[in-house]
Amino acid sequence: MAYLIEGSTGPWEVVIGLEVHAQVISAAKLFSGASTTFGAEPNTQVSFVDAAFPGMLPVINRECVAQAVRTGLGLNAHINVVSRFDRKNYFYADLPAGYQISQYQHPIVGEGVIEIELADGETKQIGITRLHLEQDAGKSLHDQHPTKSYIDLNRCGVALMEIVSEPDLRSPEEAGAYLRKLRTILRYLGTCDGNMEEGSMRADVNVSVRKHGEPFRTRCEVKNVNSVRFVMLAIEAEAKRQVEVWESGGAVSQETRLYDVARGITRSMRSKEDAHDYRYFPDPDLLPLVLDEDWIAELKSHLPELPDAKKARFIEDYGVPVYDAGVLVAEQATADFYETVAKGRDARLAANWVMGDFFAALNRTGTTIETSPVSAASLGQLIDLVSDSTINGRIAKEVFEAMVDTGKDPGAIVAEKGLRQVTDTGAIDTVVVKVLATNADKVAEYKSGKDKLFGFFVGQVMKAMAGKGNPALVNEALKKALS
Ligand code: ADP
Ligand code: MG
Repeated sequence: MAYLIEGSTGPWEVVIGLEVHAQVISAAKLFSGASTTFGAEPNTQVSFVDAAFPGMLPVINRECVAQAVRTGLGLNAHINVVSRFDRKNYFYADLPAGYQISQYQHPIVGEGVIEIELADGETKQIGITRLHLEQDAGKSLHDQHPTKSYIDLNRCGVALMEIVSEPDLRSPEEAGAYLRKLRTILRYLGTCDGNMEEGSMRADVNVSVRKHGEPFRTRCEVKNVNSVRFVMLAIEAEAKRQVEVWESGGAVSQETRLYDVARGITRSMRSKEDAHDYRYFPDPDLLPLVLDEDWIAELKSHLPELPDAKKARFIEDYGVPVYDAGVLVAEQATADFYETVAKGRDARLAANWVMGDFFAALNRTGTTIETSPVSAASLGQLIDLVSDSTINGRIAKEVFEAMVDTGKDPGAIVAEKGLRQVTDTGAIDTVVVKVLATNADKVAEYKSGKDKLFGFFVGQVMKAMAGKGNPALVNEALKKALS
């Protein structure tokens, strides 16, 4: 179903392209050895290069380059063996050098593709235009003093990857799916932690609207949106605004805007007329970056299994439904947890436990896979207790809740609470006889054709056995007794 904005002149299509800034996971900065640890005391992680002292020379950090190449490979993208660093010149207090080192005409990674999954089960290929490496700027702190601003240069020079998409996205939902998928891939690769709240991944959102079949119209760029939800809301607000501009006889002018979270609207930050002329030129302190093909191949051979491949394997090897497989691979930790539970067991049953009771317990207790009191091994043991008939499925739910509450092994809980299933047919028959005797009226009804009452008898017998009867044996015994 196409996403359209209904205007007074009919429906409008929305066109979206995203520019994502992803902070590279690396111990040191892009051109200096200073640390990148988050949350350090201000200005304690600043080298002379970062502070732009005269005469200091940048030295490229090999690990940051490797991370960009890994990311390019993970995005099925072309790796450019030769790329170049340029100076993007502008003045700002948190940019002591007066320029940012970035890659303009010759990025390290060229065209690639990300496959997104939509709610209706459809998939769509979104083109990646490029990925380039650049430095982050420092931070101005305006809330430390009533009349002064402070500068923290810790972030100055930290490596960023800017990942630019083609204008292939057509709805807020698609943009959200794209961001989540990109974040999943980056996390699997270990090249960016994808943490939008801490700002290690942020998006510039380009939006335009058009009538069906038209060429693209002028776009606006909504800067620095820091959550998937806000990206989706910003697109909706901006697209609606543009439709109104066009329909009232005006023209959208290319500009940079900001999303106002509190008011749910975008507002102008600067127009194209005040667009910066950055006077890009190749950085004379840095040689072109030339990569060795063998090194690229080496990096490629060490890539982890990525979400698309893992999903296909879960569907193929474990028989997990497509939707479930998508949920299970969304986070590496979830996928690993699931595989530990599923190995050597009924894999679909394992998927039901993980996505059902286990996810519900995480939600309810506010824990994560890492902090959950229930480990993959103990959930596996619980499933084993059902399949070897030690307990029945209903009791298993009760045992699981006790595992969540106490963190104990399922075996221990079953022993402690005496929850073993009763498979002694003699004991079951005794209960059946008693239940039928106290419900003689219902037995008569059943015999005169009210078949539905069978479930009632099963329930009564189970209740009398505190839920511990083996369901198959209880059914069998009742059938025999009632025939
Ligand atoms: P610039 O170099 O000015 O940033 P680009 O051509 O690199 O412009 O595009 C930046 C982003 O804008 C890309 O993500 C691209 O997909 C997107 N984009 C380009 N044209 C449009 C358009 N008409 N509508 C929506 N997005 C667009
Ligand atoms: Mg751009």
